[in-house]
Amino acid sequence: MELDFSEKFAKKMDRDDQLNSLRNLFYFPKFKNKDCIYFNGNSLGLQPKDSKLILNKEFEDWANMGVDGHFKAKTPWISYHKIFTNSISNLLGAKNEEVIVMNSLTVNLHLLFSSFYRPTKDRYKILCESNLFPSDRFVIESQIKFHGFDIDDALIAVTPRKGEYIIREEDIVEKIKNNSGQISLVFLGGVNYYTGQVFDMQMISRYARKYGAKIGFDLAHAIGNVKLKLNEWGVDFAAWCSYKYLNSGPGNVGGAYINKKYHKKDLFRLAGWWGHKEKSRFKMGENFHPILTAEAWQLSNAPIFGMSVHKVALDIFDEIGIEKLILKSKKLTNYLEYVINLLFDESKKFNAKIITPSQSEKRGCQLSVLINHNADILFKNISNLGVKIDYREPNVLRIAPVPLYNSFYDIYLFGEKLKLCL
Ligand SMILES: *Cc1c(COP(=O)(O)O)cnc(C)c1O
Repeated sequence: MELDFSEKFAKKMDRDDQLNSLRNLFYFPKFKNKDCIYFNGNSLGLQPKDSKLILNKEFEDWANMGVDGHFKAKTPWISYHKIFTNSISNLLGAKNEEVIVMNSLTVNLHLLFSSFYRPTKDRYKILCESNLFPSDRFVIESQIKFHGFDIDDALIAVTPRKGEYIIREEDIVEKIKNNSGQISLVFLGGVNYYTGQVFDMQMISRYARKYGAKIGFDLAHAIGNVKLKLNEWGVDFAAWCSYKYLNSGPGNVGGAYINKKYHKKDLFRLAGWWGHKEKSRFKMGENFHPILTAEAWQLSNAPIFGMSVHKVALDIFDEIGIEKLILKSKKLTNYLEYVINLLFDESKKFNAKIITPSQSEKRGCQLSVLINHNADILFKNISNLGVKIDYREPNVLRIAPVPLYNSFYDIYLFGEKLKLCL
């Protein structure tokens, strides 16, 4: 389709978009009493308007029932985590018994590493991408130290080639082959948080398996953003957070996926009472009998208030379906790419370049723009015009039009404001 940077074109695209009215389900932050242009859903998704209502319902149950709410609340607290199973397994392409909503992302990574990073004196290395999210790097490094290995020796970080920004998948495969017999774990972001690059999780999983390594993904930037088929791809484990594309609120509950081949009684895991079989959990016995699903990794009883909001947010995904959202996402992102390239080409001042891959299947909705000159000034100026995007020092702007609540007109307006800054 012929793209056009004009108000008329953007509005026509919105009229033709069946999902356009979904934005009314969310609160937009204000700028000078008007909705701001929000392209920051990759950091914190917007609040679904029904959140307060549902949260209040749980408060009422607690007020009226006290401890009895565990069994008698409208959604009994004792099994509250089960209400997410279908929605999450749909988003991940997982089997129902492979997913569990619990804790937060970094905590879950440590829990999963306790089961999946079991280094031996020969096989102890972890392969990751070089531009990892800091928390993931801290997890990896502290786990390596925890097991008594040396980080310089045990950590293999795959970097982009000189002069490039995106990691070539063949370089990942090459490193897996070259260290065969020594890699214990391959661990990557399914979508890299910095560049927006989507890795070929299926292919990388296949190679990890072939060379005897476990394969895990951080899906913080992937869930609710790109198509996932974790079970089919043979991924061993994954974790995510719910406050980015899943719109469930700051710091809200995350989750973990564990391939069903590991749902065994004798597999090592750091354990807590909520992972114990439900039937005998309250007998308060001394022996741990794990539930033979991903639920075995649960430690504690569930944080109901946050979870209630998570449910509201996931209901929206259930209603629309991720396929439709991804279709719209590709159109939005292509349009944003077109507008950015058009405007930066016209103005050489900032010497800018999109570093996110240009192929649709290699990215989600985020575009990362490298600004070679005065990135901080551009960021400040556009922020002062009511545009919410994300700035990663020293010189990358991350801009994410989210299909649930962003429109083509948002992109047009963004372009108008960017033009002013250029
Ligand atoms: C957002 C994000 C995190 C944040 O971790 P929390 O434990 O939820 O604070 C970690 N890793 C990646 C890749 C992220 O994008």
